Amino acid sequence: MSVFKMPAKLLKEIEAIIAKFWWCQSEAGNGIHWKSWGSMGIIKSQGGLGFRDFISFNRALLAKQLWRMIKVPQSLVSRVFKEKYFLNCDVMEAELKGSPSYIWRSIWSSMNLVKEGLVWRVGNGRDISIWKDKWLPRPVTYQVQTPPNILDPNCRVSDLINESSKSWKEDLVKTIFCKEETDLILSIPISRRGASDKKIWAGSTRGIFTVKSAYHMDTCLSKRRRGEPSSGGEDAGMWKDLWKLEAPGKIRMFVWGSLSNVLPTKDVLYRKNILKDNLCPICTREPESVIHALWSCPAARDVWGADSSKLKKWNSSFCDFQQLWKDMSTRLDSEELQMTAVKFQLLWKRRNAFVFKNQFMSPESISTLAQAEVSMLREANSMDSRGVEGGVSATVASRHWKAPEWPAVKVNFDASFDKLQKRGGIGIVVRDWEGKLKACLTSSRKNVFTAA
Ligand SMILES: [Zn+2]
Repeated sequence: MSVFKMPAKLLKEIEAIIAKFWWCQSEAGNGIHWKSWGSMGIIKSQGGLGFRDFISFNRALLAKQLWRMIKVPQSLVSRVFKEKYFLNCDVMEAELKGSPSYIWRSIWSSMNLVKEGLVWRVGNGRDISIWKDKWLPRPVTYQVQTPPNILDPNCRVSDLINESSKSWKEDLVKTIFCKEETDLILSIPISRRGASDKKIWAGSTRGIFTVKSAYHMDTCLSKRRRGEPSSGGEDAGMWKDLWKLEAPGKIRMFVWGSLSNVLPTKDVLYRKNILKDNLCPICTREPESVIHALWSCPAARDVWGADSSKLKKWNSSFCDFQQLWKDMSTRLDSEELQMTAVKFQLLWKRRNAFVFKNQFMSPESISTLAQAEVSMLREANSMDSRGVEGGVSATVASRHWKAPEWPAVKVNFDASFDKLQKRGGIGIVVRDWEGKLKACLTSSRKNVFTAA
């Protein structure tokens, strides 16, 4: 995949297999694909799950090979390809002629992507064409937009540089370019030593090519071609808050499903012509949308009303779940948000138990269960940060050791205890005022039954 362009049909088949595995729980593969592969491929901070678009990923891997030919033209591979396919021109000007090998056709197919990301870093300006190349520090276009007027369209950037003083010909630049471009050009530093111009990758901040940045650039290009917006815009904060939430993956995935409207509520199933009615199975009064099932249904209101947090007196009239979650993200602290997310999932579990098993949990039971789940979660998190029993804690380990005042010595000690193997150990270190080791002792013991 990194040197050959895989057939699009094969890549689509692989995507279909993964999508089936993700959405279908039965071996027969029957199940609703609630979101398209394209939507799942959007990055997590923009509402997707970051699944790979294999065609773009393949292209990004091929772009890496082409980028190597640009950066290391003296390599054996570059020289062989040059001899055969672009002897009299630059690799970026190479055309697909004759009957090229499959490997060259594959690498060549990433040409547009590499052209998109290739920009020049100005050195002496001799290799850069003012109007044809990308060299302005202005993301997306990087190209001069002012049409050629005084100078010839084939002029080089070096024509704008004063060779002796190694500075921009300010008056000439101001005459040729518009104000914005003049400011950009004059802000570019010029090499004092007359270093040659350098090709860099615009996709990463350090100008170094990475497959990840090339993949991201290719997906943005594909979106632009389809006329779709390339960023999540105002919802970006909402998704970021969700993935930052300190909760198990299943809870975050549940909230993601609710926000993405892929929860199989009766209203959703009705809209897909799977069910004949959309009424809430619990109250049977209103359509069962996500916001109804988890927030505004009288049965859900009983749970939130019994809540001791700020949510008790909240307005119940939110038009959709995204609006509710955004409001919660701004008004609740992280612990309250964590508890709320756990309750959302328990409410949905209760709804399913009612529909499929005819069982119904009381609001008190939901609150108790949520408390228990959150306590377990916090305990697990605090154990993680404390380290294992008797071990060196993260906070202690990160503290700096300080030498004692002259002429004192400092004694540090620590002990550990392994409950399962019934073993204990002790370590003592003595250091002087300069931090020099004076004495140390380590000892381990078997058949130790308690840490005390
Ligand atoms: Zn209801």
